[in-house]
Amino acid sequence: MLYQSTGRNTEKIKASEAIIRGLSKDGGLFVPESFPNISGETLTQLISKSYSERSAYIMGLFLDEFSQDELGKFTGKAYNTKNFDTEKIAPLHAVNKNTFFLELWHGPTCAFKDMALQVMPYLLIESLRKNGDKHDVCVLVATSGDTGKAALEGFRDIPGIKIMVFYPKDGVSEIQKLQMTSQSGDNVFVTAVEGNFDDTQTGVKRIFSDSTVADALEKKGYLLSSANSINWGRLVPQIVYYVSAYCDLIDNGTIKLGEKINFCVPTGNFGNILAGYYAHKIGLPINKLICASNRNDVLTQFINTGAYDRNRTFYNTISPSMDILISSNLERLIFELSGKDGDSIASYMSALSDKGSYAVPEAVLDKIQSLFASGYCSEEDTKKAIADVWSKNGYLIDTHTAVAYKAINDYKEKTGDESVSIVVSTASPYKFCESVLEALGVSTEKSGVALMDILFDYTKVTIPAPLAVLKNTKPRFPGSIKQDEMKSAVLQFPGG
Ligand SMILES: *Cc1c(COP(=O)(O)O)cnc(C)c1O
Repeated sequence: MLYQSTGRNTEKIKASEAIIRGLSKDGGLFVPESFPNISGETLTQLISKSYSERSAYIMGLFLDEFSQDELGKFTGKAYNTKNFDTEKIAPLHAVNKNTFFLELWHGPTCAFKDMALQVMPYLLIESLRKNGDKHDVCVLVATSGDTGKAALEGFRDIPGIKIMVFYPKDGVSEIQKLQMTSQSGDNVFVTAVEGNFDDTQTGVKRIFSDSTVADALEKKGYLLSSANSINWGRLVPQIVYYVSAYCDLIDNGTIKLGEKINFCVPTGNFGNILAGYYAHKIGLPINKLICASNRNDVLTQFINTGAYDRNRTFYNTISPSMDILISSNLERLIFELSGKDGDSIASYMSALSDKGSYAVPEAVLDKIQSLFASGYCSEEDTKKAIADVWSKNGYLIDTHTAVAYKAINDYKEKTGDESVSIVVSTASPYKFCESVLEALGVSTEKSGVALMDILFDYTKVTIPAPLAVLKNTKPRFPGSIKQDEMKSAVLQFPGG
């Protein structure tokens, strides 16, 4: 199977090249040229398989350059009880007979980014090998929180890889910061950058476009790479948990093979929900994909009207991983639904960067609305949703998952749709203790990691082990640098 750009370039490349390159030269994103299909028989066969086996099979449909044997080795190393605190890897939690939470936060960093970043490093290394590329890789990440830690854990101590993470000094929670600054591994480097996320991201982008950096690293045998969410190597592992959840619902007798279900996804960069769309595209019986937004509801507006407009106020919310006004992966969806018309996509994307907005034609909007619904959740309603699920079901959810819970309930009320619904749960509530405690009406003088114990005392919900250890951890990388020092940090790091 070959890959093509969503932009004007019509060149076709192999999956391994798409994974190495990340982004097409024309600025577009790589997408599969055609889609495989899973039959009912396949789904039936997957029911008795482990998550790791399901993953090797589904990824193999898209990465046919990789043998089942290779993929099985990678998924076995990624999805096991050393890295995840449950054998199911991505378990379902029922709150009533037709509503389930799909918990994607049982990995080493307690957020759903682990689902992709635990396996992606193996895909990257093997892609280089398949292309006869002898470089080592230096991965640079600018993070606003969850991605940095998940990338560090995924790439830690992998031979042939070095990873550097830059996070904004003013812009991550205390728990997120300690998660990163206490990182172990011999191939890692972490530093704060003075300023906000934009300053950090701009610094990293500048390094990527500076040929003197590339040349200097080339002399040491290194290639620069990124682990951000537009890389195909991060999307394909995410298709798996949609299929896996469906198999589990058949297995526990909730649905019959072929029955259509809904997924509601708390959305930021449109990566997670796009993987759900790809699962639908290969034949998973999905009725609706419900895109849930927080106060930055640019995607809700788009799905309702067909107009994407980032000229609006940016809000810092209590679901910070969804605080995004440019949802990078959306162009992959529009590409599929507009007949793979690279010219149109290129003109939408240049309108987005020139004037901050674009609109798709009615016909494309109709196609979007036939599969997608959308929902919005205010800050107040996010907290209400957490309190609600806790008091009704004794089940604790984080602020991002709460946005999706509100959206699915609104959707059900509005449409009367009784299909079995899965709310995609993206983080452990312990990552966002402060807001969760506030939602539950628990007041405290304490802050930072001490809040984990307060939340535990109130709920008796187990603190995930990777977060519990933070209480006794000293930062290993306490430093911060200025934006204009980032380049020399990169030049000094790998091989140095
Ligand atoms: C990254 C993230 C999201 C948003 O996912 P996208 O793929 O960007 O839509 C939602 N919740 C949490 C906890 C996240 O870390």
